[in-house]
Amino acid sequence: MMFEQLGIIGCGLMGGSFALALKRAGLVKRVVGYSKSPSTTERARKLGVIDVEAPSALLAVSGADIVLIAVPVAATEATFKSIKHLVTPQMLVMDVGSTKRDVVDASRRALREQVGSFVPAHPIAGKEVSGVEHADADLYTGKQVILTPIERTLTVQLQKAVDVWTALGCRVVKMSPESHDAAFAAVSHLPHLISFALMNAISGQPHGKDYLSLAGPGFRDFTRIAASDPKMWRDIMLANREELLAQAKIFQHNLQALELMISSGNSDALEGLIEQASQTRAHWSMAKHQK
Ligand code: NAP
Repeated sequence: MMFEQLGIIGCGLMGGSFALALKRAGLVKRVVGYSKSPSTTERARKLGVIDVEAPSALLAVSGADIVLIAVPVAATEATFKSIKHLVTPQMLVMDVGSTKRDVVDASRRALREQVGSFVPAHPIAGKEVSGVEHADADLYTGKQVILTPIERTLTVQLQKAVDVWTALGCRVVKMSPESHDAAFAAVSHLPHLISFALMNAISGQPHGKDYLSLAGPGFRDFTRIAASDPKMWRDIMLANREELLAQAKIFQHNLQALELMISSGNSDALEGLIEQASQTRAHWSMAKHQK
């Protein structure tokens, strides 16, 4: 498998890392990139992440046999619209968006008869920092990638998508967009929500700053994801609001159960629930392959 030209739309952390990884693996001859700000595209070229700057999303797609859309999820539909005239059945188009139902709906609306070339993808990889200067050829190595094809996805493009991520050292998992959004509401979007709420809950108290200065490694580990990009997380939470709110409800019930046991001094029941959590966490490990 060798691609002639990769078109990157959104030369940030995710798009830039994909370009670097594909180049390092010797899977692509030329990388053409486009970002909203010309200064970002220029920086990507100066850093050697892309070879050629494109002045528009459409021109980044022109001549490409593989395209990666790595823009904020809210900008995906407009991107599809601007490139659809040049999408062909021979082209593999993917995204990296953290939510999949909204992206798949946008692809049906905007790509129409070309929707078969699009293979929705979500690499379970990332960093709290964004921007092309943090792009890293190893970002995807050993990570999971979820593909959420639909009935109209072309088999040949789906297979190419599996092959390219596998060649980058990823474990590829296929599921429906709905199952993806339900699962990631629970294991990604809810933990971010809780982490944001916890930071604000503490920092908003009269002595919050003093308390924070005393916090140790447990607090550091628990709140690492609170430092994530605000705009990206705003988009994710709004895009997956139903599943996220459903998970937040389940979480609140669990929190209330613990609160009740604490307030009533029900020590056996409290220990039982902590034991249950502790056992589940002790037996949990990230999907094999992940680092
Ligand atoms: P990023 O580093 O900020 O990169 C986003 C890039 O998209 C920037 O270069 C930005 O250009 C460009 N952009 C914004 N709007 C655009 C538009 N309308 N047209 C073309 N380019 C546009 O963000 P990222 O972390 O790579 O995230 C990109 C996507 O990856 C998001 O959809 C996110 O859900 C997904 N994702 C992220 C992570 C993570 O941990 N970061 C993990 C999994 C999935 P300018 O610099 O010109 O604004």
